[in-house]
Amino acid sequence: MTDASQRPPTARLAARTGDLERSKIRVMFDLAEEYDGDPVRLHVGVPDFNTPEHVIDAAEAAAREGHTEYTQNAGIPELRAAIAETLAREDGVEVSPEQVTVKNGAMEALSLAVLAVAGPGEEVVIPTPAWPNYVNHAVVAGANPVEVPLPADEGFDLDPELVGEAITDDTAAVILTTPSNPTGRVYDEDAVSAVADVAADHDAYVIADEVYGRLTYDREFRGMASYVDHPDRVLTVGSCSKTYAMTGWRLGWLAGPQPVVDAVSRLGESTTACTSSVSQHAALAALTGPQEPVAEMKAAFEERRDYVVERVAEIPGVSCPRPEGAFYAFLDVSDFPGTSFEVAERLLDEYGVVTAPGDGFGEAGEGYIRLSFANSVERIGEGLDRIEEMAHERR
Ligand code: PLP
Repeated sequence: MTDASQRPPTARLAARTGDLERSKIRVMFDLAEEYDGDPVRLHVGVPDFNTPEHVIDAAEAAAREGHTEYTQNAGIPELRAAIAETLAREDGVEVSPEQVTVKNGAMEALSLAVLAVAGPGEEVVIPTPAWPNYVNHAVVAGANPVEVPLPADEGFDLDPELVGEAITDDTAAVILTTPSNPTGRVYDEDAVSAVADVAADHDAYVIADEVYGRLTYDREFRGMASYVDHPDRVLTVGSCSKTYAMTGWRLGWLAGPQPVVDAVSRLGESTTACTSSVSQHAALAALTGPQEPVAEMKAAFEERRDYVVERVAEIPGVSCPRPEGAFYAFLDVSDFPGTSFEVAERLLDEYGVVTAPGDGFGEAGEGYIRLSFANSVERIGEGLDRIEEMAHERR
């Protein structure tokens, strides 16, 4: 036996830590911090609004009234009931409060959902381009992420045949995100239903990441569990982060079949046990209080979406699928020399604009950069001016 005190401090790391890929959004985040000056930051998905005042007031009152202790793993009953009511009212998804578990952001809900349903060696199907964290959720669970690149020439719409072909008896779950990060696409309900049917045939779950569900511009949004034939196979994930400008409060949830919800609550017990009690009271105020702030933020995002679409159409050699939801535009920059990471690096180094390279969202994203329009029209305009400058200089 080797003497543990003789080992170099980094020698004993579990293999899975080496298997984790760093998100290229975070890599750009670090590069932007090293940038000398104040770049136009169009890389992160954080609403540029303050959390609504009444939510902050509720949090303050909760802290003062002594709601400062651990809560049940699945969250305070009032909040679970409010989430169930919100899911029914806004998304048409019918669940009981007991079928909701409150977690530290959608991120924890997604990660624990994958841990709950995908065992070592099983597969998690991820249509891409997609939010990069899903891959690591699978890796941490010891499962294999199976990427299904969606066709760019169809604006990265969900292709049920392609995704269906990737689903086998080894598949534990398929992760569908609508509206999509990074493309802003809202998937057709028929396509989602077709994928859900195949998943059910193979005894697999659909993990429905609907954190941007309240931010759709051209179409009405309905939660996947409200219209597929097998709602009992859908794990619905939501969050206060994007809807209420509450990313730092870390408040999300998972709703769905009782055994999975209970397993997720149990899995969280040894790490965080519960979400911050103060954040839970803030979320309760967000969901049950006035919804005007949501409408105002959505209107601002829609105006910016229109502006981005108009401006991108004028830039030679650059285009993007029209974002139907969320606050991202996925720009095709394949005309520019280099990989999408090199394009993003050059945009930062030479033009002072921070974006996220498309290949960070899976191989389907190579040749693209993601631009977040969670920023003022002025700053977005400045960023697009510089992208336009780059497009002209390249010619
Ligand atoms: N799902 C998607 C598609 C996201 O883009 C994000 C955050 O960017 C999350 C989940 C995580 O959200 P939360 O802040 O609730 O953890």
